[in-house]
Amino acid sequence: MQQKAGHLLQTGNTIALVPTMGYLHEGHLALMREGRKHGDALVVSIFVNPTQFDPGEDLESYPRDMDRDAHLAESVGVDIIFAPEAEAMYGQTYQTHVDLEMLPRFLCGLSRPGHFRGVATVVTMLFNIVKPHVAVFGEKDYQQLVIIRRMVDDLNFEIRIIGVPIVREADGLALSSRNTYLSKDERRSALSLSHSLQQAQKSVAHGMKDARQVIKGALEHIRSYPYTKIDYVAVCDTKTLQDVDRIDGPSLMAMAVWVGKTRLIDNAILKP
Ligand code: AMP
Repeated sequence: MQQKAGHLLQTGNTIALVPTMGYLHEGHLALMREGRKHGDALVVSIFVNPTQFDPGEDLESYPRDMDRDAHLAESVGVDIIFAPEAEAMYGQTYQTHVDLEMLPRFLCGLSRPGHFRGVATVVTMLFNIVKPHVAVFGEKDYQQLVIIRRMVDDLNFEIRIIGVPIVREADGLALSSRNTYLSKDERRSALSLSHSLQQAQKSVAHGMKDARQVIKGALEHIRSYPYTKIDYVAVCDTKTLQDVDRIDGPSLMAMAVWVGKTRLIDNAILKP
């Protein structure tokens, strides 16, 4: 991959990168279609990165289907799939990590303590290997996007980061490779996330400004569905991710909810 990237650059091409963990769906494909517009060569990485899974998480059971992924990627004009083995990325002697001070302390970072260190580290490695001019990430993982933007700015990567809005099923469920874990009944309960976000967006648009009230409404709504267990529901600043008390400008509402044994995340911007 490094040789290919070097050759592409030497021959005057630009490179766009879409990092993924595979088991591709329309959300990933939206990122690829966006990436296609921004580079002569479009590279997609497929790597279930072990260091971003905390102990007890679903690293082993994470869904994988490389043949299907290859077909889907080809259908949207991907030029190169970079799918390394974990061993090739982290040898026995690996000991370097990228850590951010503040942003990983909020939201998903609270229940996934090593997650963003793993993400920032692997994205840095991917950037150095693929050498992209542009990299595309989904707003589905909003905290991840904020962290990557911060890291790129802090470490002076000459890479433009593009965010793509969340792609949803017709009924509102945010697409995720993990949706495949859901039973039929759980799939119905999974709608509690998008429904509570829509409800919050409406209340805020109609003048509700007290973040605690908005969160309370969402908690109650989610709890009314079977199989749900709330990890967190937060309303925070879109850049610092710090909690806000009053919703005076566009604010991020983010949540993680267990539906059965599946942890789902979703978010939306609340606009007064
Ligand atoms: P993953 O394979 O889950 O690590 O996701 C790879 C990239 O796709 C990340 O930048 C995600 O934010 C993005 N992504 C995943 N699901 C969606 C979705 N439903 N809509 C938009 N982007 C998504």
